[in-house]
Amino acid sequence: MSFSQVFDPGVLALPLFDDAHRTLADEIGQWCADRAEAWANLDTTDPATTARALLAELGRSGWLRHLDPDQPDSDVRSLCLRRQALAYHEDLADFSYSIQELTAAAITRHGTDRQRRRHLPGLAAGTSAGALALSEPGAGSDLAAVVLEATPDGDGFVLNGTKTWIAQGDIADVCVVLARTGDGPGPLGLTAFLVDCGTPGFKAEPIGAIAPRSWAELTFTDVRVGSDAVLGERGQGLVVALDVLERARATVAAAAIGFARRGFRLALDHARTRKAYGGRLTDLQLVRSSLAGMDVKLSAASLLTARAAWAMDAGLDHAKHSSTAKLYATEAAGEIVDSAVQIFGAAGLVSGSATERLYRQIRSLRIYEGSSEVIEMTIADAL
Ligand SMILES: Cc1cc2nc3c(=O)[nH]c(=O)nc-3n(C[C@H](O)[C@H](O)[C@H](O)COP(=O)(O)OP(=O)(O)OC[C@H]3O[C@@H](n4cnc5c(N)ncnc54)[C@H](O)[C@@H]3O)c2cc1C
Repeated sequence: MSFSQVFDPGVLALPLFDDAHRTLADEIGQWCADRAEAWANLDTTDPATTARALLAELGRSGWLRHLDPDQPDSDVRSLCLRRQALAYHEDLADFSYSIQELTAAAITRHGTDRQRRRHLPGLAAGTSAGALALSEPGAGSDLAAVVLEATPDGDGFVLNGTKTWIAQGDIADVCVVLARTGDGPGPLGLTAFLVDCGTPGFKAEPIGAIAPRSWAELTFTDVRVGSDAVLGERGQGLVVALDVLERARATVAAAAIGFARRGFRLALDHARTRKAYGGRLTDLQLVRSSLAGMDVKLSAASLLTARAAWAMDAGLDHAKHSSTAKLYATEAAGEIVDSAVQIFGAAGLVSGSATERLYRQIRSLRIYEGSSEVIEMTIADAL
């Protein structure tokens, strides 16, 4: 694996990035490459255990250090570069990294100093796992429909209800939970809570997925939390959730680019070596057209993502840029990985092969943290 396979050097050379980003890309690319062989044989039959081990490895190696309240926070371009390299090499590593990041972002941006000091050092060390529990069986895209109830009780609240599709839900030590406190109508009646997953009444049930991931349904039965568990302001839970999701949107685009660059690289190598009609697949015009199309989409996705991350770091209005980057990069990545499978022919579908795994891994990016349709609505609203 060379640096130019994971990242586009032409995009990284743009003034949208500085030397610290180029050094970081080099370092995370090398760190992942050093583990590529071990990760290729990763046992994913028990994604929860594997995710725990990956989190610990990320923590030990310092890739989560910026989550610690005493360390400088990361900019969004750096988050994107890390996710791109992790996704290029191992889906579960990227997944764990991103969920740890999402949970910590909610605490960093909306927590009190006490909450930060209590939860962030463990998340930064990779010794504690976080989860962001927003979705429910009856509330996915429409988070204002959340019904999990937090009833005031003495000096605290009692939580009852169900969350579902929760990444790292089955391994989490701390969970950010969006709950209905009824302080106002609809979206104004929601509050975010920090819940210790060891609290009596909390139960996590793993959910199997198209690609192995630590993923769970969470049940809250009379889960008691103190008033110090409120994250942000009462009645402002949806603001906390949307702030964190919006900040993460460009990083999902970056992960999509990582998966897609891997698919492209596999397809290119295969086309260059696979013999056909007395030559190679790369001699065939339609195969060349497919490869060229993949390359163009990768360039466009990388540029859109760099623009979104740069705008966020510069403190500019970025909502439309982030949505555009996520929509384009995740849709394009699906098409690129599909084209890679096509170039491999039957070999691309062999269970456990890199292309077959990519094909399953890339699908969820068009659904989580804003489905493509919801993001199209956001872009249309901004026109
Ligand atoms: C791998 C993965 C990990 C996840 N991790 C988490 C997690 O950690 N925490 C968490 O809280 N949730 C998580 N989710 C859930 C995710 O956030 C939801 O799946 C997502 O918000 C969509 O909600 P839904 O699945 O209920 O679909 P629905 O909201 O029911 O949508 C169904 C379909 O309707 C479309 N639709 C919805 N609204 C509109 C609209 N306004 N206009 C047009 N079409 C629309 C959607 O695009 C979709 O195609 C995860 C999901 C996946 C796949």
